[in-house]
Amino acid sequence: MQQRRIIFKHIDEPGYTNDLACYQRNGGYDVLRKAVARPPAELIDEVKKSGVRGRGGAGFPAGVKWNLVDRKSGKPIYLVVNADESEPGTFKDRYIIHQDPHQLIEGTMITCFANNVKQAYIYIRGEMPEGARILERAIAEARAANLVGPNILGTGYSCEIYVHRGAGAYICGEETGLIESLEGKRANPRIKPPYFPAVLGLYQCPTIVNNVETICHVKHIIDMGGEAFAKIGTPNNTGTRIYCVSGHVQRPGYYEFECGKITLGQLLNDVCGGPRPGRAFKAVIPGGSSSKILRFGETFTLKNKDGSTRTLAVEDIPMDFDTLAACGTMGGSGGVIVMDDTVNMVEALANINAFYAHESCGQCTPCREGSLWMKRITARMVHGAARAEDAALLKNVADQIPGRTICAMGEACAWPTQSYVEKFPEDFGNYYETKKTPRPAGAPQLV
Ligand code: NAD
Ligand code: SF4
Repeated sequence: MQQRRIIFKHIDEPGYTNDLACYQRNGGYDVLRKAVARPPAELIDEVKKSGVRGRGGAGFPAGVKWNLVDRKSGKPIYLVVNADESEPGTFKDRYIIHQDPHQLIEGTMITCFANNVKQAYIYIRGEMPEGARILERAIAEARAANLVGPNILGTGYSCEIYVHRGAGAYICGEETGLIESLEGKRANPRIKPPYFPAVLGLYQCPTIVNNVETICHVKHIIDMGGEAFAKIGTPNNTGTRIYCVSGHVQRPGYYEFECGKITLGQLLNDVCGGPRPGRAFKAVIPGGSSSKILRFGETFTLKNKDGSTRTLAVEDIPMDFDTLAACGTMGGSGGVIVMDDTVNMVEALANINAFYAHESCGQCTPCREGSLWMKRITARMVHGAARAEDAALLKNVADQIPGRTICAMGEACAWPTQSYVEKFPEDFGNYYETKKTPRPAGAPQLV
């Protein structure tokens, strides 16, 4: 399978470095130069035509989001680039920032110019200090070259970019929690709807929040034109996606493919080299830990447009937003986590539940208490104190959470438990009895 490297075009090329000189030698900032000579409304239109969907996880169309920005309020419009990449299994934004920070800065400046933004913030995850330093240095280089700051490229248009470091909380990646944090407050997500950041965001002003990868795509959309971009990938799932594959494959890593043109099986077998010798795939999380798990061997019957149906095995699922959603999970943030037959799903879930219980901001009772109870139950299971009713209890707790919380973390913490318990009854149902059976050879030791 041939990758379609657009964002990764130069990344990993021998001799490609992350400084301004190298970026410009490879055509860097040429698109910004052309963009600032065009009417901003035309640029917004190109992004709309491209159909690009948000790469942070939700897949909301970026052009639609830009169009929803309140431009009549007379208030400043802010851009916030969400670089608080915290979803377990997701590490693409960090790689872009480390390897090609100017690509992100160019996309940021084009987005700002298109939307008449004068101040942009790149909110970077607290655990990425190196990324923050790289960005600061790159912004300083761009400012010195008149590409960021006052009167860029002599156009009369001025725009500053500030790097803001988070303090290591998952919930700072939720856009309204992020905005609260940027305002200097605890990152408690805000209730939305009715007011999305596009109308009332940072300092109660209209704010565009886009993910790092989405902002990088903006540069390429403006370069090739929205219609050309829309021809890449598949309808409603346009452009390329970066998949970060981790876990039990022979070649984990970052891979960029046309959205929906590669199946999960091709990605894991042809690209990532298949399972480790002597092992078989057991399960895969397709879009970050919040997405529902897929079990190898299960099948999905989906409706075609003409009313007929088709049946897909896990390996056959095209890696796009819509098909993954139709299979009851999501493409999410592109973090693909693979588990082979050495993994006991109770132990995998215990790990994930510990994460969500730690990261709940605590505002909503179902998320705060539910995530804690799910953590306690799976923790006692793996520590030898399982009870016969634990699987049913886990499901009961998880079922009370989705749809009853302020932010999507309610779903994020419940979906793993719901899907693991439902799809792996042999691991959960009789964990109580099988706990004493020997662990498969090669399985990691329990802490
Ligand atoms: P969401 O569907 O509520 O919103 C998606 C985006 O669309 C937001 O920017 C929102 O403001 C905008 N939007 C939606 N409806 C709108 C409207 N009517 N008017 C204006 N704007 C509108 O999803 P979310 O809660 O922002 O994100 C959830 C996703 O985040 C999950 O699916 C998960 O995959 C992902 N996630 C990613 C990471 C990561 O590290 N990348 C971490 C945690 C979660
Ligand atoms: Fe906080 Fe969880 Fe409620 Fe989100 S769902 S606001 S993380 S308590």
